Amino acid sequence: MQDVFRLDDPQGPYKVIYIHRPTVGLKAVVAIDNIACGPAIGGARMAADVTAEEAIRLARAMTLKNAAAGLAHGGGKSVIVGNPRMPLPEKERLIRAFACAIENLEEYIVGPDMGTDELCMGWIKDEIGRAAGLPREIGGIPLDEIGATGLGLVAAIEAAKDYAGIDLKGARIAVQGFGAVGKHAARFLAERGAVLVAASDSRGTLADPQGLDVAALIALKADGQPLTEHPRGRKLEPNAIIDIECDIWIPAARPDVIRADNVGRLRTRLVAEGANIPITDEAERALHDRGVLVLPDFIANAGGVICAAVEYQGGTESTARQVIVEKITANTRAVLDGARKSGMPPRQAAVALAQRRIEAAAATRRWR
Ligand code: NAD
Repeated sequence: MQDVFRLDDPQGPYKVIYIHRPTVGLKAVVAIDNIACGPAIGGARMAADVTAEEAIRLARAMTLKNAAAGLAHGGGKSVIVGNPRMPLPEKERLIRAFACAIENLEEYIVGPDMGTDELCMGWIKDEIGRAAGLPREIGGIPLDEIGATGLGLVAAIEAAKDYAGIDLKGARIAVQGFGAVGKHAARFLAERGAVLVAASDSRGTLADPQGLDVAALIALKADGQPLTEHPRGRKLEPNAIIDIECDIWIPAARPDVIRADNVGRLRTRLVAEGANIPITDEAERALHDRGVLVLPDFIANAGGVICAAVEYQGGTESTARQVIVEKITANTRAVLDGARKSGMPPRQAAVALAQRRIEAAAATRRWR
């Protein structure tokens, strides 16, 4: 029993459910961390090596993210054991069985995560009538297609530019990871007059101090080619993106890419975290001490979850865009004002903001 309760604290988890259906080969865990702000919303992750602890930790991250985003949702996460690339009929059977198992768990709304997608959410909605991140044909707002997270990231940068003393017109940006988040962030920033001086993907870095053609790079990636296939610019190894001098550096690829051993290489004034936990705590503190403004992931990359929440409430794509910009602008300002007043790094100010909202919501609840 000790193992089950090891991760408890006064905030959660509220419920952890272990699901085992041997006849369909289903093994899953749902962690609902906290529902003070409303029903928990959070993705279902499918991988062969997922654990209950992962679900519990990710559910906590969602509680903070949803509260910091100002959503009327708590945090949850589920993990399903399995190879996400299993044959589709097998995956459908498994996901539908998972949906049936959580039917009565009304305080949890599932969204897509690693290994699950819009189609999976469609199956879950079909079984139990609730899921977020649905296909467009059944009322979904395709968040990666519209660039929801990139849009939010750029709203955070716009809100932070005065705190960092940056003018977006002519600002040099470098983007690590040119996928759903990175390419849209680059596109929206270029629309505001910023210059993309470097971008990277898993194969390499492409750099040009005169500026890269964002639309051409997006077309290249859509064609399945690496950025380094672009005829212009210097071709470098993937991690060379860290050394590019710029005004705004955007990690939008993998976790822990900036650590104590390489943080000294970053030469920038503002970091906007598109990826989740791209910078270790130690490195983030070193950047703060050097006067580099870091916009924490759960504030700056909340566009996707805000979009999912708007979709769940029956909102349209244009409402989603508007709500993303409004909420992320206001939250970024609140965090940066809090950080400025207290001298705390922005992440600490952001956690304090989220905690205040969770406590205020909990004060209205019978089960705190
Ligand atoms: P994606 O798969 O669409 O794109 C990832 C990109 O990163 C690809 O271009 C890939 O080539 C590149 N990449 C992989 N390894 C790399 C490396 N070592 N160096 C440079 N580039 C590398 O993924 P995404 O949806 O854009 O997500 C990116 C990150 O943002 C992830 O950490 C994800 O958890 C986070 N995130 C995504 C969303 C969303 O709405 N998609 C929301 C919040 C956070």
